Amino acid sequence: MIVHFKKDVDSIIVNKFVAQYGAFHFKKKDYVVAITSSSLKEFDLSYDDFISDTFVFNDDIQLASKKYLTKKRSVKLGDIEFGGDSKNIIMMAGPCSVESKEQIEESSLMLKSLNLKILRAGCYKPRTSPYSFQGLGLEGLKLLDKMRSKHDLKIITEVRDSSHIEDIIEYSDIIQIGAKAMYDQGILKRCSKINKPILLKRGFGTTLQEFVQAAEFILSGGNENVILCERGIRTFETKTRFTLDLCGVAYLKEHTNLPVVLDPTHAMGHAYGIPDLTRACVAMGIDGLLIETHINPKVAKSDASQQLDHEEFKKMFNSLHPIAKAIGKEII
Ligand code: PEP
Ligand code: MN
Repeated sequence: MIVHFKKDVDSIIVNKFVAQYGAFHFKKKDYVVAITSSSLKEFDLSYDDFISDTFVFNDDIQLASKKYLTKKRSVKLGDIEFGGDSKNIIMMAGPCSVESKEQIEESSLMLKSLNLKILRAGCYKPRTSPYSFQGLGLEGLKLLDKMRSKHDLKIITEVRDSSHIEDIIEYSDIIQIGAKAMYDQGILKRCSKINKPILLKRGFGTTLQEFVQAAEFILSGGNENVILCERGIRTFETKTRFTLDLCGVAYLKEHTNLPVVLDPTHAMGHAYGIPDLTRACVAMGIDGLLIETHINPKVAKSDASQQLDHEEFKKMFNSLHPIAKAIGKEII
């Protein structure tokens, strides 16, 4: 259940409710929102005078539900808006990993040449082998920071575990919680206590219910700037790396109030399929895209097979505009 306390209700009342029902709560401009388990269907009558609105749910998709907010939430990053009333499909692109000053500079210049505003690149890579390149860590974050000021770009970069979360919070504009990290409740809870946009990726073995409940961990702590990202789930198919769940995206658009971004790169796993898949994603009317592109994918230190080279990326990018226009959207 979600309740809205009336304007300026005494904190003693709120605290009593929170303790009685094990509720989460956070403050909006002039009222408090409290969230309990969805199994609670009614509260003690003594709170009646202090509560203005009550929302009852069948399951724990609550703050993220369209039954709570019928309108899509708006997540703002400076003058860039995801969701809300905007018609934007926001392109976030860049290499899988920051590898060197020269490499990330080339990526930044390529984005600038297309007037794109958000650079993606990882510094703490959640690799499946300890012997693979693990990322440049803090040195990589500092290189991204340079790109931010030199090229006036916003940065999205991923947190792998809680050991470096404070650095990620300091250096990123959007915090990416990856497919493996999305179950880390330390990360989710820390991200719930800041105001920066969080891009939460779906784990590859995660149901939609579990995925949105992970978002609830962030929302219920008071950070309402959550963006969901579908990046492929594991199925019986082995010819592609994962299976991009577009049905799941339709579900998220219909039932949740959160902006939705698609990452076709990690789903496909092979560069040849990315342009077609990206065009299909745009046609779904989503709020953003996350695409890997590298100056020379053959020598990339991570995810080499799936990154578009810069020419391929530009060609694909230019092909997206008519599709976006046809559904009343604009790629920026
Ligand atoms: C990435 O974006 O480079 C990445 C590791 O993604 P995921 O968490 O989806 O595997
Ligand atoms: Mn990658």
